Amino acid sequence: MRRTRLFLPTLKETPAEAQIVSHRLMLRAGLVRQSAAGIYTWLPTGLRVLQKIAQIVREEQDRAGAQEVLMPTIQSAELWRSSGRYEDYGKEMLRITDRHDRDLLYGPTAEEVITDIVANEISSYRDLPKNLYNIQWKFRDEVRPRFGVMRGREFLMKDNYSFDLDKAGAVHSYNKMFLAYLRTYARMGLKAVPMKADTGPIGGDLSHEFIILAETGESAVFCDKSLLELDTPGDDIDYDANLQQEVDRWTRHYAATDEMHDPAKCDVAEDTLITARGIEVGHIFYFGTKYSAPLGALVQGADGRQIALEMGSYGIGVSRLVGAIIEASHDDDGIIWPESVAPWLVGLINLKVGDANCDATCEKIYAGLRAAGVEALYDDRDERAGGKFADMDLVGIPWQLTVGPRGLKGDKIEVKQRAGGEKSEIALDALVDWIAARAGA
Ligand code: ATP
Ligand code: MG
Repeated sequence: MRRTRLFLPTLKETPAEAQIVSHRLMLRAGLVRQSAAGIYTWLPTGLRVLQKIAQIVREEQDRAGAQEVLMPTIQSAELWRSSGRYEDYGKEMLRITDRHDRDLLYGPTAEEVITDIVANEISSYRDLPKNLYNIQWKFRDEVRPRFGVMRGREFLMKDNYSFDLDKAGAVHSYNKMFLAYLRTYARMGLKAVPMKADTGPIGGDLSHEFIILAETGESAVFCDKSLLELDTPGDDIDYDANLQQEVDRWTRHYAATDEMHDPAKCDVAEDTLITARGIEVGHIFYFGTKYSAPLGALVQGADGRQIALEMGSYGIGVSRLVGAIIEASHDDDGIIWPESVAPWLVGLINLKVGDANCDATCEKIYAGLRAAGVEALYDDRDERAGGKFADMDLVGIPWQLTVGPRGLKGDKIEVKQRAGGEKSEIALDALVDWIAARAGA
């Protein structure tokens, strides 16, 4: 992408309304703009990040055997009356009336919609298990939307729902998601700690929240230090072998959110117990037949009897993750994107636009990167070098290449890594291969 064509409105001043660093940087780096309280427009650069995060979520859902669907944002109130949640959900639900006076709502979650689909389409135990997910906008009329996309009213969530014949199957599905979540966050450069959690209005008896430790987090959390040192399961993960063992490796260490923390049951020595703030980036639940029974999601079992499906639901805050990653990875100059979610892997800075050699060299590098499949942002603006460097750092591009007359005399390009700030000089003719081998590797 050429910077002269890109719609990227960066800000020099710190926006007064933003209380936490991720919100400030998201506004300054031109990722989002607020449209109404807790409702945002995603600008091109922010949207690229959001889509990369969604893609990682998608790949790990697929790897764990879930299948993608797309449910509507607008749902019928009837379904929610059947589950009994229409009244219970309270003021967080945005209620809508259509021209025929029918009650609709903007979905805050989708247990009812998906359970209704399954109730209509699945009738035999042979069709189980099933695990269906979607990545869709949700609306919750939060009392106090704040911290930018971290607590929005409209936000992007990956939510999925597992359907099994019995409890053992449902726990197996739950465990798969538990590990898929760990892998998902690790791929974004995050250490998310699974913590025993309250099931809240969703209900049920088994639940974990996935928490990123950060001072600006909204929840108080307690966990054993050793959890931060465990390795996440690798690409070769076998979801059918050793599943329970792998989950136990995590759950045997104490970790609980505020509501679940019980000092009497916490056996962690004082010097190894972390008491911190955390950002909830995911939440998983097993709740049995809470929705399947009232919505009629039953199947015929092997013995011919009708059995209500055992369900779990699993959420990831996709748009919240953009803020959470920034909270975990920034410095005084701006965002430091992990490569896997960066809007572009490489930033190319032309120090002297108009100089024939600089222009031609930049064009050649830009074309070379594209041919090598490396996404680059080419700053081809005729502006002061200082401002261009500052922008690349603010926007957080992982690898920054600087092309200027002085370096070109020796056929050298300066490469800076955003994380750590390390600089090296690379020979022009080796540059594209050098970057392609490192960036995204
Ligand atoms: P919270 O406790 O933060 O209000 P929740 O428990 O109501 O969240 P879930 O219903 O478990 O949230 O939703 C799944 C995920 O969606 C959460 O883990 C979180 O990452 C994200 N999420 C929930 N509410 C919001 C919001 N208002 N803005 C952005 N993301 C949200
Ligand atoms: Mg929650």
